[in-house]
Amino acid sequence: MDVSASQVEEVVRKILSEMASSSASSSSGCCEIPKTGKVAILQEPKKFVVKEYPIPALTDDDILVKVEGAGVCGTDVHEWKGDPFGLCPLVLGHEGTGTIIYLGKNIKCDTAGHPIKVGDKIVTSVISDDTCFICRNHPGQKNLCWNQGIYGLVPLDEKNPFRGWFSTHLLIRDKGSTYFVVNDLNLNQRMLLEVACVCVHAYLRGQATGLLNFNSKVVLQGCGPVGLMMCAVLRAAGINHVIAVDGNDQRLEMAKKLGAKTTINYREMTDKKDRVAKVLALTDGAGADFAYQCTGAPGAAADIYDFIRRGGGMCEMGFFVNNGEYQVNPHFAMCNKEINLVGSWAYSAEDYPVTMAFLRQCQEMNIPIEDLITHNFPLDKMNEAMEVNVARQGIKICYIAN
Ligand SMILES: [Zn+2]
Repeated sequence: MDVSASQVEEVVRKILSEMASSSASSSSGCCEIPKTGKVAILQEPKKFVVKEYPIPALTDDDILVKVEGAGVCGTDVHEWKGDPFGLCPLVLGHEGTGTIIYLGKNIKCDTAGHPIKVGDKIVTSVISDDTCFICRNHPGQKNLCWNQGIYGLVPLDEKNPFRGWFSTHLLIRDKGSTYFVVNDLNLNQRMLLEVACVCVHAYLRGQATGLLNFNSKVVLQGCGPVGLMMCAVLRAAGINHVIAVDGNDQRLEMAKKLGAKTTINYREMTDKKDRVAKVLALTDGAGADFAYQCTGAPGAAADIYDFIRRGGGMCEMGFFVNNGEYQVNPHFAMCNKEINLVGSWAYSAEDYPVTMAFLRQCQEMNIPIEDLITHNFPLDKMNEAMEVNVARQGIKICYIAN
């Protein structure tokens, strides 16, 4: 075969240009990739074991994150207590954040379309399949995807165990992953972003009833991390008349700091009639315009209907796991009152930018949401972190990487 000098020159030029572009991409696309990372594996209920694994070979479509920290969610604790989803062994932690240390050259933007680069702070959101009935026909309801996934709630893959935030590194590789650059938020705000997103989504569900306005009186039942964050969301949204109900004074104090106007401690007011009378007294004898049910206790959930006025509404957001059933009389609780009842399930990626705006708003309005974080634990103390959570000491427990 005859090869002309010009053809040789063209091949050489092509090779040189490829070499130049690959060295450019490696210098801009990564920095100090470690050979191994550590992962807290939930080996069996109540047993986290920290193991070291090699970091998988990285591709042009991967993002490797050095984990800074992650909130401990009620779902993590339920998994730790008894593996109700049957996923063990697995890597938990879905409220995490960290710094990008490797960015595949095919990735140019985050899910919101913002440019992304090595060194950016990042959070992950849901992983949708984009093919189920909901994703195809109702893309605005992707939080209800039939095959919804999330980093931190997937069975262990020994070849790539870096799929949960209770680890030193997270590898964003799953198809359908969503992630956001959050450089302007501090570590605490970033660790609270996911739980805030649950509440922002629930706020939007409530708002859809038309019952949330500047003059709305709202009962908020259950002041765990979700209920307290919900308080802050209502406050930031201009709803100043919130009645918080819980059995723990420390949490009720926090509810006040985050915007609740009045509180009811059901341990001090044990008769339900008295609690209803108090809510009526605080709402011109009518009952609340709207209620957020944030406990996972069926008995409490059944009580809430008596706090709501005729024509009022309620958002159920307390049962992210199956905690059993309750009985209500549908005549009095719903039909005769013409109640506007909505459920709220997690969030979709679209709720993230709104939630980031909420976090900035809290900062501007001095709503002290970062005070929700009461405990931090390192990776090798995750069993203790769960025990503190189960014992209901503190409010929001977090994992902080070294
Ligand atoms: Zn789907």
